[in-house]
Amino acid sequence: MKITNSMSGKKEEFVPLKKDEVKMYACGITVYDLSHIGHARQAIVYAMITDYLRYRGYHVTYVRNYTDVDDKIIKRANELGKNALEFSKEQILENEKDMKNLHVTEADIKTKASEYIPQIIKFVENLIEKGHAYVTDKGDVYFSVKTFKEYGKLSHRKVDELRNGVRIEVEEGKKDPVDFALWKSAKPGEIYWESPWGKGRPGWHIECSAMILNTLGETIDIHGGGRDLLFPHHENEIAQSEALTDKKFVNYWTHCGLIKINGEKMSKSLGNSLTIRDALKMYNYEVIKYVMLSKHYATDIDIHDKDFALAEDHMYYFYSTIKKMEDFINKNQGDAKANILEDEIPQSIVSKFIQAMDDDFNSALAISNLHIIFRYMNNIMKTANKSNRQIVANTLAKALENIKSVYKILGLFEQNPEDFIHEMKEKYLKKLNIDIKQIESEIEKRAEAKKVKDFETADSIRANLDEKGIILNDTVDGTVWDIKELYSTNQ
Ligand SMILES: [Zn+2]
Repeated sequence: MKITNSMSGKKEEFVPLKKDEVKMYACGITVYDLSHIGHARQAIVYAMITDYLRYRGYHVTYVRNYTDVDDKIIKRANELGKNALEFSKEQILENEKDMKNLHVTEADIKTKASEYIPQIIKFVENLIEKGHAYVTDKGDVYFSVKTFKEYGKLSHRKVDELRNGVRIEVEEGKKDPVDFALWKSAKPGEIYWESPWGKGRPGWHIECSAMILNTLGETIDIHGGGRDLLFPHHENEIAQSEALTDKKFVNYWTHCGLIKINGEKMSKSLGNSLTIRDALKMYNYEVIKYVMLSKHYATDIDIHDKDFALAEDHMYYFYSTIKKMEDFINKNQGDAKANILEDEIPQSIVSKFIQAMDDDFNSALAISNLHIIFRYMNNIMKTANKSNRQIVANTLAKALENIKSVYKILGLFEQNPEDFIHEMKEKYLKKLNIDIKQIESEIEKRAEAKKVKDFETADSIRANLDEKGIILNDTVDGTVWDIKELYSTNQ
């Protein structure tokens, strides 16, 4: 298995510290507002990585944190007249609701900065003792960057250049502009904890270092987060942890790409921030996962509205095909354990999936394989004849079993196909401003017209429905209808 390591910039063979075990940490969310779709991507990506590693037989311990003490939280809580910790607790509950509705595999351990204060203080004390940090008269504690010779190794930046580039901030007692805060003395009205340096609270970077040390140990296998965290956050985590332990902190650094919406960086002020909650009101959770995972995790995604529409279209096609496969299997008593067609596509569903995912979790390739797989399945159903119906049914049964066994790692096909199809149809009918009863009565009228050989009326009914976005298909079991927008690109 290969993973692209941000440290080397190269794809590297994955060798865990301990055979069959993986220790993974991903930086989580600063909880001062509802989570947005960028948070969803990160949660979906690290859930996928966890699930895949487990599928490959690793025992994974996945830790994710909540930053529940921070400037933004304090500011927002003050505006609302709430206690900062109570406010962040509420936000965590909201976030967990969203994650549950997204159906993502949660971290095994979810840590909160506020619950690790003694460990953070101990960490900072040890850094001071080792000469890597200093206390100011005000009671702030800074990490002394010049004492950690390898600073900049992850982001490939030089400390001298950083020093020149840094804005001169007036921070009392800070010895070097590149030094960063480990502990912040409390301002009046702010939440605080007692410490050897007076009342205060932890800086942001130190919480991850302290929580990793106390949950996973000195060295971990995989560390993740959004690419916007690479510098300075992850660089600072390395400095703190390696300065303390003199050991390698992380073996594989992974970074998740960022999200733009309609070409622009997502931001509240631009009014294009999409919360998970709003996204879930508009789209099925598997559609959201499809959008997120149909691009490689490390690439940036520029999401346009049409991407969700296209994802709905593809997922509708997949689920419709699954439904057809199930019907075919039931009719012909397909048996997943019996002989199946010798073709490459049904024989290689699992191996192709593993091949894609072993190559730096290439979910994009795994998803594009689905199009090939389902096209093939439709094809063998269409061309099945009396002599091969049984083996086709077996092939479909085996394929379905295999598809479900691996694509659940991407969070796909967990729903009842009929429910999914129904949900999509309802949604699009609303958009088209037409209801099922209307369509059914038109179909009936058309059947009547055809009975009396009034083909002109029959054709005009079909044309009218077509104009409204509904297409008709005459099958041996009668006329069935579908949504043109969902049906057109797929059949
Ligand atoms: Zn972090």
